[in-house]
Amino acid sequence: MYEIKTTKLLKNVMKDYFSSFMSARKIAWCTSVGPAELLRSFGFEVYFPENHGALLGATRQAGDFIPSTVALGYSGDICSYLTSDIGAYLNKKTPLAEHYGLNGIPKPDLIVYNTNQCREVQDWFTWFAREFKCPAVGIFPPRHVEEAGEAEIKDVAAQFKAIIPSCEEASGKKFDIDHFRETLLMSKEATLLWKEVLATSKNTPAPLSFFDGTIHMGPIVVLRGTQAAKDYYTALLAELREKISSEKGFLEKEKSRIYWDGMPIWGKLRTLSELFVQNNSAVVASTYCNSWVFDAFDENDPFVSSAKAYTEIFINRSENAKMRMLKELSEEFRIDGMIFHNAKTCFNNSNANFGLPLRFYRETGIPVLVVEGDLCDLRFFSEGQSITKIETFIEQLESIRVTH
Ligand code: SF4
Repeated sequence: MYEIKTTKLLKNVMKDYFSSFMSARKIAWCTSVGPAELLRSFGFEVYFPENHGALLGATRQAGDFIPSTVALGYSGDICSYLTSDIGAYLNKKTPLAEHYGLNGIPKPDLIVYNTNQCREVQDWFTWFAREFKCPAVGIFPPRHVEEAGEAEIKDVAAQFKAIIPSCEEASGKKFDIDHFRETLLMSKEATLLWKEVLATSKNTPAPLSFFDGTIHMGPIVVLRGTQAAKDYYTALLAELREKISSEKGFLEKEKSRIYWDGMPIWGKLRTLSELFVQNNSAVVASTYCNSWVFDAFDENDPFVSSAKAYTEIFINRSENAKMRMLKELSEEFRIDGMIFHNAKTCFNNSNANFGLPLRFYRETGIPVLVVEGDLCDLRFFSEGQSITKIETFIEQLESIRVTH
């Protein structure tokens, strides 16, 4: 049976990360593509509510909690990370208790968000700021940029600098530019390792599927700027390279190679992973896992490079820029078919609403499929119908391969 042994190490890394909150001096909350490095440079332990949302989805508890948030007047159609996370808090429940022995979610001393991904994080994080009577500060970059221009980057870099006084006050520490540079360098090294980890699946047979990637991405999301993340991806990369040399992949024979665009369907990862494997189809690349590759980080220019890296993320780009990026990745990974997951409660991270799939097909000739679903709210995912659609799509890809 195919196995990635480093997964055992991952369990310890995540356990250590969550245990650190029990003895933390100061805790900051941060959005998943927020200024984690800057926060860490002040000595905060950094907690990411989106990671908690994903856990609620993966453990299929989200559906139990969403109604409590809807009862507060929030729509059931908005971000199911937000609705499940607030709902879990209202019900005093968290999978962190069972999995990592925490009494509850870590209590923040400071809440920081970046609306580079969506406005929802502002509403979500300020709800908790009111609840915990805790300061909250935001970074508001321009949205949906073709490329971020010099003036825009300058503005965002100034916003990064503007949160320093709040960080100093909440942490009780003075800002130290050298420490920020070191943290950013460490984050850059980890992110480049993560990029190489993902790139291993350019090989056939591919050693890492998109579904594996959603598990192994934990440290690059929650431990950016730490030695632990660097060490983890060094170990994972070594194992995957070893698999490439011995020609071991998660599929013995790949009959097609697929790109997954959009969010994972957390509560159905295993079902979907098995479905593709049974059909000898390798899901080898994704927009989602690539979202934590930050090439632009430069410790010599930490504010400007952080502003650039975090403003030019995929989710914050124009449709033209997204098209370019998807074309590049599909070429690099030799993709036969593209699946767009249209997540009902996250239009921000769903790219099937403005004609992109059809344009992509017309310009590349690569067949596309749109799957309706959601990140956490499984009421929006019709399993039987989606399986049929995916199996038919894979058959279609195989027949195209044979024809050519
Ligand atoms: S990007 Fe989507 S899933 Fe993520 S926080 Fe925003 S609305 Fe929620």
